[in-house]
Amino acid sequence: MDKNVIIILIDGGRVDRAMKSSIFTNLQSKSVFFPQTISYAPYTNAAMHALFSGCYGNRTGTDSYWHTYRFKKNKFKTITEYLKDRGYFTCGDGHTKLIIPRQGFDEFHIHDENKDDLSKHHSDLIDLVKTKNDQGNRFFLYLTYSNIHTGIKDEVLKIYNNFSEEYFQNKTINEKRYDGFFSKAENYLEIILKKIQDLDLYKNSIILIISDHGISVGEKFGERAYGAFCYDYTIKTFAYLISSDITSREIVSQVRHIDFMPTILDMMKIKLDTSYESLDGESLIPLINGSKFEENTAYSETGNPLDGKAPPKAPNIKSVRTSKWKLIYNEYNNTKELYDLVNDPHENNNLVNSGLEIEEFLWNELTKKQG
Ligand SMILES: [Zn+2]
Repeated sequence: MDKNVIIILIDGGRVDRAMKSSIFTNLQSKSVFFPQTISYAPYTNAAMHALFSGCYGNRTGTDSYWHTYRFKKNKFKTITEYLKDRGYFTCGDGHTKLIIPRQGFDEFHIHDENKDDLSKHHSDLIDLVKTKNDQGNRFFLYLTYSNIHTGIKDEVLKIYNNFSEEYFQNKTINEKRYDGFFSKAENYLEIILKKIQDLDLYKNSIILIISDHGISVGEKFGERAYGAFCYDYTIKTFAYLISSDITSREIVSQVRHIDFMPTILDMMKIKLDTSYESLDGESLIPLINGSKFEENTAYSETGNPLDGKAPPKAPNIKSVRTSKWKLIYNEYNNTKELYDLVNDPHENNNLVNSGLEIEEFLWNELTKKQG
Protein backbone atom coordinates (compact mmCIF):
# COMPACT_ATOMS: atom_id res chain seq x y z
CA MET A 1 0.00 0.00 0.00
CA ASP A 2 1.13 3.56 -0.69
CA LYS A 3 2.78 5.46 2.08
CA ASN A 4 1.79 8.79 3.55
CA VAL A 5 4.11 11.69 2.78
CA ILE A 6 5.11 14.25 5.42
CA ILE A 7 7.33 17.24 4.62
CA ILE A 8 8.54 19.37 7.52
CA LEU A 9 10.22 22.64 6.61
CA ILE A 10 12.56 24.17 9.17
CA ASP A 11 12.52 27.62 7.56
CA GLY A 12 15.95 29.24 7.81
CA GLY A 13 17.62 26.20 9.40
CA ARG A 14 21.42 26.22 9.05
CA VAL A 15 23.14 22.93 8.25
CA ASP A 16 26.12 23.66 10.55
CA ARG A 17 23.71 24.04 13.48
CA ALA A 18 21.80 20.87 12.54
CA MET A 19 25.08 18.94 12.51
CA LYS A 20 25.84 20.10 16.06
CA SER A 21 22.36 19.38 17.37
CA SER A 22 21.59 16.12 19.15
CA ILE A 23 17.94 16.22 18.04
CA PHE A 24 18.95 16.52 14.39
CA THR A 25 21.93 14.16 14.50
CA ASN A 26 19.79 11.51 16.21
CA LEU A 27 17.72 11.56 13.05
CA GLN A 28 20.70 10.31 11.09
CA SER A 29 20.35 6.82 12.51
CA LYS A 30 16.95 6.44 10.88
CA SER A 31 17.28 8.58 7.75
CA VAL A 32 19.29 9.30 4.67
CA PHE A 33 21.07 12.51 5.58
CA PHE A 34 22.04 15.00 2.89
CA PRO A 35 24.43 17.61 4.37
CA GLN A 36 24.92 19.29 0.98
CA THR A 37 21.38 20.06 -0.11
CA ILE A 38 21.53 23.03 -2.43
CA SER A 39 18.67 25.49 -2.63
CA TYR A 40 17.61 27.02 -5.95
CA ALA A 41 17.06 30.32 -4.16
CA PRO A 42 18.14 31.52 -0.70
CA TYR A 43 14.65 32.69 0.29
CA THR A 44 11.45 30.82 1.01
CA ASN A 45 8.98 31.16 -1.83
CA ALA A 46 11.30 30.50 -4.77
CA ALA A 47 13.09 27.72 -2.87
CA MET A 48 9.84 25.99 -1.99
CA HIS A 49 8.30 26.28 -5.45
CA ALA A 50 11.44 24.56 -6.79
CA LEU A 51 11.17 21.84 -4.12
CA PHE A 52 7.49 21.20 -4.83
CA SER A 53 7.82 21.19 -8.62
CA GLY A 54 11.25 19.56 -9.08
CA CYS A 55 12.11 22.47 -11.37
CA TYR A 56 14.13 25.65 -11.24
CA GLY A 57 12.20 28.88 -10.90
CA ASN A 58 13.60 30.34 -14.08
CA ARG A 59 11.43 27.75 -15.86
CA THR A 60 8.39 27.68 -13.57
CA GLY A 61 8.08 31.46 -13.32
CA THR A 62 8.67 31.68 -9.55
CA ASP A 63 12.16 33.16 -9.73
CA SER A 64 11.75 36.08 -7.35
CA TYR A 65 10.23 37.16 -4.10
CA TRP A 66 7.50 38.86 -6.17
CA HIS A 67 6.67 35.97 -8.48
CA THR A 68 4.75 33.41 -6.41
CA TYR A 69 1.71 33.89 -8.64
CA ARG A 70 3.74 33.62 -11.83
CA PHE A 71 4.15 29.89 -11.20
CA LYS A 72 3.09 28.22 -14.45
CA LYS A 73 0.66 25.78 -12.91
CA ASN A 74 -0.53 24.42 -16.25
CA LYS A 75 3.01 23.44 -17.21
CA PHE A 76 4.49 22.27 -13.91
CA LYS A 77 2.82 19.69 -11.70
CA THR A 78 3.59 19.79 -8.00
CA ILE A 79 4.10 16.87 -5.66
CA THR A 80 0.85 17.87 -3.96
CA GLU A 81 -1.03 17.46 -7.25
CA TYR A 82 0.56 14.08 -7.95
CA LEU A 83 -0.54 12.83 -4.54
CA LYS A 84 -3.97 14.42 -4.81
CA ASP A 85 -4.44 12.62 -8.16
CA ARG A 86 -3.55 9.43 -6.33
CA GLY A 87 -6.44 10.00 -3.93
CA TYR A 88 -4.45 11.40 -1.03
CA PHE A 89 -5.87 13.80 1.50
CA THR A 90 -3.57 16.81 1.13
CA CYS A 91 -3.04 19.25 3.98
CA GLY A 92 -0.58 22.10 4.35
CA ASP A 93 0.31 24.74 6.89
CA GLY A 94 2.39 27.92 6.68
CA HIS A 95 2.68 31.44 8.02
CA THR A 96 1.56 32.89 4.68
CA LYS A 97 -0.19 31.57 1.60
CA LEU A 98 2.66 32.84 -0.56
CA ILE A 99 5.41 30.40 0.34
CA ILE A 100 4.44 27.29 -1.59
CA PRO A 101 2.31 26.46 -4.64
CA ARG A 102 -1.12 25.76 -3.22
CA GLN A 103 -2.39 23.74 -6.19
CA GLY A 104 -3.67 20.35 -5.08
CA PHE A 105 -4.19 21.09 -1.39
CA ASP A 106 -7.50 20.02 0.13
CA GLU A 107 -6.73 22.20 3.14
CA PHE A 108 -4.17 24.91 3.56
CA HIS A 109 -3.90 26.42 7.01
CA ILE A 110 -2.29 29.77 7.80
CA HIS A 111 -0.80 30.10 11.27
CA ASP A 112 -0.01 33.32 13.12
CA GLU A 113 3.77 33.24 13.30
CA ASN A 114 3.79 35.73 16.18
CA LYS A 115 1.28 33.98 18.42
CA ASP A 116 0.62 30.34 17.60
CA ASP A 117 2.30 27.48 19.41
CA LEU A 118 3.51 25.58 16.36
CA SER A 119 4.28 22.37 18.26
CA LYS A 120 0.69 22.24 19.43
CA HIS A 121 -0.85 23.43 16.15
CA HIS A 122 1.13 20.95 14.06
CA SER A 123 0.50 18.11 16.51
CA ASP A 124 -3.21 18.80 16.04
CA LEU A 125 -2.77 18.61 12.26
CA ILE A 126 -0.97 15.28 12.63
CA ASP A 127 -3.94 14.04 14.66
CA LEU A 128 -6.22 15.24 11.88
CA VAL A 129 -4.37 13.47 9.07
CA LYS A 130 -4.09 10.32 11.20
CA THR A 131 -7.89 10.14 11.26
CA LYS A 132 -7.76 9.99 7.43
CA ASN A 133 -5.42 7.00 7.73
CA ASP A 134 -7.82 5.38 10.15
CA GLN A 135 -10.57 5.79 7.56
CA GLY A 136 -8.44 3.98 5.00
CA ASN A 137 -7.05 7.03 3.17
CA ARG A 138 -3.46 8.14 2.69
CA PHE A 139 -2.37 11.68 3.36
CA PHE A 140 0.19 14.29 2.36
CA LEU A 141 1.06 16.71 5.15
CA TYR A 142 3.27 19.76 4.68
CA LEU A 143 4.30 21.74 7.79
CA THR A 144 6.27 25.00 8.05
CA TYR A 145 8.22 25.74 11.21
CA SER A 146 8.40 29.52 10.72
CA ASN A 147 9.78 30.79 14.02
CA ILE A 148 13.46 31.09 13.08
CA HIS A 149 12.31 33.35 10.26
CA THR A 150 10.00 35.25 12.65
CA GLY A 151 12.79 35.88 15.13
CA ILE A 152 15.19 37.04 12.42
CA LYS A 153 12.50 39.28 10.95
CA ASP A 154 11.85 40.99 14.29
CA GLU A 155 15.39 41.16 15.65
CA VAL A 156 17.52 41.52 12.51
CA LEU A 157 15.57 42.51 9.40
CA LYS A 158 13.60 45.26 11.11
CA ILE A 159 16.58 46.63 13.04
CA TYR A 160 19.52 46.50 10.62
CA ASN A 161 20.06 46.85 6.90
CA ASN A 162 22.52 44.93 4.73
CA PHE A 163 25.18 47.56 5.38
CA SER A 164 24.77 48.20 9.13
CA GLU A 165 28.33 48.24 10.51
CA GLU A 166 26.99 47.46 13.97
CA TYR A 167 25.55 44.16 12.78
CA PHE A 168 28.68 42.93 11.03
CA GLN A 169 30.94 43.97 13.90
CA ASN A 170 29.03 41.85 16.40
CA LYS A 171 29.20 38.38 15.00
CA THR A 172 29.19 36.74 18.44
CA ILE A 173 25.88 38.42 19.30
CA ASN A 174 24.48 37.38 15.92
CA GLU A 175 25.54 33.78 16.48
CA LYS A 176 23.94 33.72 19.94
CA ARG A 177 20.74 35.24 18.62
CA TYR A 178 20.51 32.68 15.83
CA ASP A 179 21.36 29.81 18.19
CA GLY A 180 18.49 30.85 20.45
CA PHE A 181 16.05 30.61 17.54
CA PHE A 182 17.55 27.32 16.39
CA SER A 183 17.22 25.73 19.80
CA LYS A 184 13.47 26.46 19.74
CA ALA A 185 13.33 24.72 16.36
CA GLU A 186 15.00 21.71 18.02
CA ASN A 187 12.32 21.67 20.74
CA TYR A 188 9.64 21.85 18.08
CA LEU A 189 11.14 19.03 16.06
CA GLU A 190 11.50 16.83 19.12
CA ILE A 191 7.81 17.23 19.93
CA ILE A 192 6.71 16.63 16.33
CA LEU A 193 8.88 13.53 15.93
CA LYS A 194 7.51 12.15 19.18
CA LYS A 195 4.00 12.75 17.91
CA ILE A 196 4.82 10.88 14.70
CA GLN A 197 6.23 8.05 16.80
CA ASP A 198 3.28 7.97 19.19
CA LEU A 199 0.82 7.71 16.31
CA ASP A 200 2.97 4.97 14.77
CA LEU A 201 3.35 6.86 11.50
CA TYR A 202 7.01 6.00 10.84
CA LYS A 203 6.13 2.60 9.47
CA ASN A 204 3.79 3.81 6.74
CA SER A 205 5.14 7.30 5.93
CA ILE A 206 7.88 8.87 3.86
CA ILE A 207 9.14 11.82 5.91
CA LEU A 208 11.31 14.64 4.60
CA ILE A 209 12.77 17.14 7.07
CA ILE A 210 14.37 19.97 5.19
CA SER A 211 15.49 23.58 5.31
CA ASP A 212 14.81 26.06 2.52
CA HIS A 213 17.94 28.19 3.09
CA GLY A 214 20.37 29.15 5.82
CA ILE A 215 20.68 32.58 7.43
CA SER A 216 23.71 34.84 7.77
CA VAL A 217 25.23 35.52 11.15
CA GLY A 218 27.33 38.28 9.62
CA GLU A 219 29.69 36.29 7.40
CA LYS A 220 29.63 38.67 4.45
CA PHE A 221 29.16 42.41 4.56
CA GLY A 222 26.12 43.25 2.43
CA GLU A 223 23.85 40.42 3.67
CA ARG A 224 22.43 40.56 7.19
CA ALA A 225 20.12 37.56 6.79
CA TYR A 226 19.44 35.85 3.44
CA GLY A 227 18.40 36.44 -0.15
CA ALA A 228 21.16 38.90 -1.09
CA PHE A 229 23.98 36.50 -2.04
CA CYS A 230 24.54 32.91 -3.16
CA TYR A 231 27.16 31.89 -0.58
CA ASP A 232 27.05 28.49 1.07
CA TYR A 233 25.87 29.72 4.47
CA THR A 234 22.48 30.26 2.82
CA ILE A 235 22.26 28.06 -0.29
CA LYS A 236 23.71 24.93 1.33
CA THR A 237 21.12 23.40 3.63
CA PHE A 238 20.16 20.00 5.02
CA ALA A 239 17.67 17.26 4.32
CA TYR A 240 16.76 14.06 6.16
CA LEU A 241 14.72 11.50 4.28
CA ILE A 242 13.04 8.83 6.39
CA SER A 243 11.30 5.73 5.13
CA SER A 244 11.17 2.18 6.46
CA ASP A 245 12.28 0.82 3.08
CA ILE A 246 15.53 2.78 2.77
CA THR A 247 18.67 2.18 4.81
CA SER A 248 20.02 5.07 6.83
CA ARG A 249 23.22 6.62 5.52
CA GLU A 250 24.88 9.93 4.83
CA ILE A 251 25.20 11.10 1.24
CA VAL A 252 28.32 13.18 0.96
CA SER A 253 27.82 14.40 -2.57
CA GLN A 254 25.82 17.46 -3.40
CA VAL A 255 22.09 17.13 -4.09
CA ARG A 256 19.52 19.76 -4.93
CA HIS A 257 16.12 20.73 -3.59
CA ILE A 258 14.71 19.97 -7.04
CA ASP A 259 15.73 16.32 -6.66
CA PHE A 260 13.40 15.49 -3.77
CA MET A 261 10.09 15.64 -5.61
CA PRO A 262 11.24 13.12 -8.26
CA THR A 263 12.81 11.02 -5.46
CA ILE A 264 9.54 10.74 -3.56
CA LEU A 265 7.64 9.94 -6.78
CA ASP A 266 10.26 7.28 -7.57
CA MET A 267 9.92 5.75 -4.09
CA MET A 268 6.18 5.48 -4.68
CA LYS A 269 6.57 4.25 -8.28
CA ILE A 270 4.49 7.18 -9.53
CA LYS A 271 5.17 7.90 -13.19
CA LEU A 272 5.80 11.44 -14.37
CA ASP A 273 2.82 13.03 -16.07
CA THR A 274 3.97 13.63 -19.64
CA SER A 275 1.34 16.29 -20.25
CA TYR A 276 3.53 18.59 -18.13
CA GLU A 277 7.03 19.97 -18.73
CA SER A 278 10.03 17.76 -17.95
CA LEU A 279 11.80 18.09 -14.59
CA ASP A 280 15.15 19.68 -13.79
CA GLY A 281 15.57 17.41 -10.76
CA GLU A 282 16.43 13.71 -10.76
CA SER A 283 15.53 10.89 -8.42
CA LEU A 284 18.15 10.35 -5.72
CA ILE A 285 17.29 6.67 -5.33
CA PRO A 286 20.28 5.45 -7.43
CA LEU A 287 22.52 7.58 -5.24
CA ILE A 288 20.86 6.30 -2.06
CA ASN A 289 21.21 2.71 -3.28
CA GLY A 290 24.84 3.25 -4.11
CA SER A 291 24.51 2.46 -7.79
CA LYS A 292 26.52 4.60 -10.19
CA PHE A 293 25.56 8.22 -10.09
CA GLU A 294 27.25 11.25 -11.47
CA GLU A 295 26.87 14.40 -9.44
CA ASN A 296 24.75 17.09 -11.05
CA THR A 297 25.66 20.74 -10.89
CA ALA A 298 23.34 22.90 -8.79
CA TYR A 299 22.03 26.19 -10.10
CA SER A 300 20.96 28.96 -7.75
CA GLU A 301 19.95 32.57 -8.19
CA THR A 302 18.71 35.49 -6.15
CA GLY A 303 17.73 39.13 -6.38
CA ASN A 304 20.06 41.30 -4.32
CA PRO A 305 18.30 44.52 -3.32
CA LEU A 306 21.74 46.28 -3.29
CA ASP A 307 21.03 49.74 -1.90
CA GLY A 308 17.30 49.52 -2.57
CA LYS A 309 14.73 48.70 0.10
CA ALA A 310 13.15 45.72 -1.65
CA PRO A 311 14.53 42.91 -3.79
CA PRO A 312 14.39 43.43 -7.57
CA LYS A 313 11.74 41.71 -9.71
CA ALA A 314 14.35 39.57 -11.49
CA PRO A 315 17.42 37.74 -10.15
CA ASN A 316 20.72 39.61 -10.48
CA ILE A 317 23.14 37.08 -8.92
CA LYS A 318 23.51 33.53 -10.23
CA SER A 319 25.67 30.62 -9.19
CA VAL A 320 26.60 27.14 -10.30
CA ARG A 321 28.04 24.68 -7.83
CA THR A 322 29.58 21.24 -7.60
CA SER A 323 30.63 19.61 -4.32
CA LYS A 324 34.05 21.14 -4.83
CA TRP A 325 33.68 24.39 -6.74
CA LYS A 326 31.35 27.33 -7.15
CA LEU A 327 31.12 30.05 -9.75
CA ILE A 328 29.06 33.13 -8.92
CA TYR A 329 28.02 35.61 -11.60
CA ASN A 330 27.09 39.04 -10.27
CA GLU A 331 24.98 40.11 -13.20
CA TYR A 332 24.29 43.57 -11.77
CA ASN A 333 27.94 44.61 -12.17
CA ASN A 334 29.18 41.89 -14.53
CA THR A 335 31.73 40.38 -12.13
CA LYS A 336 32.48 36.75 -11.34
CA GLU A 337 33.70 34.86 -8.28
CA LEU A 338 35.19 31.36 -8.26
CA TYR A 339 35.69 29.43 -5.03
CA ASP A 340 37.46 26.22 -4.10
CA LEU A 341 34.86 24.96 -1.62
CA VAL A 342 37.05 22.17 -0.28
CA ASN A 343 39.96 24.37 0.75
CA ASP A 344 38.05 27.61 1.16
CA PRO A 345 34.57 26.69 2.48
CA HIS A 346 33.87 30.24 3.62
CA GLU A 347 34.38 31.55 0.09
CA ASN A 348 36.95 34.22 0.88
CA ASN A 349 39.54 33.68 -1.84
CA ASN A 350 38.18 34.56 -5.29
CA LEU A 351 40.05 32.48 -7.90
CA VAL A 352 38.35 33.87 -10.98
CA ASN A 353 40.58 34.54 -14.01
CA SER A 354 43.42 32.53 -12.51
CA GLY A 355 43.43 30.09 -15.41
CA LEU A 356 41.57 27.19 -13.74
CA GLU A 357 39.79 24.91 -16.23
CA ILE A 358 36.85 24.46 -13.90
CA GLU A 359 35.90 28.10 -14.46
CA GLU A 360 35.02 27.54 -18.10
CA PHE A 361 33.08 24.36 -17.30
CA LEU A 362 31.03 26.14 -14.62
CA TRP A 363 30.49 29.18 -16.80
CA ASN A 364 29.12 26.95 -19.57
CA GLU A 365 26.84 25.24 -17.07
CA LEU A 366 25.61 28.57 -15.80
CA THR A 367 24.93 29.81 -19.31
CA LYS A 368 22.96 26.63 -20.08
CA LYS A 369 20.88 26.85 -16.92
CA GLN A 370 20.09 30.48 -17.55
CA GLY A 371 18.45 29.29 -20.80
ZN1 LIG B 1 12.72 30.73 4.43
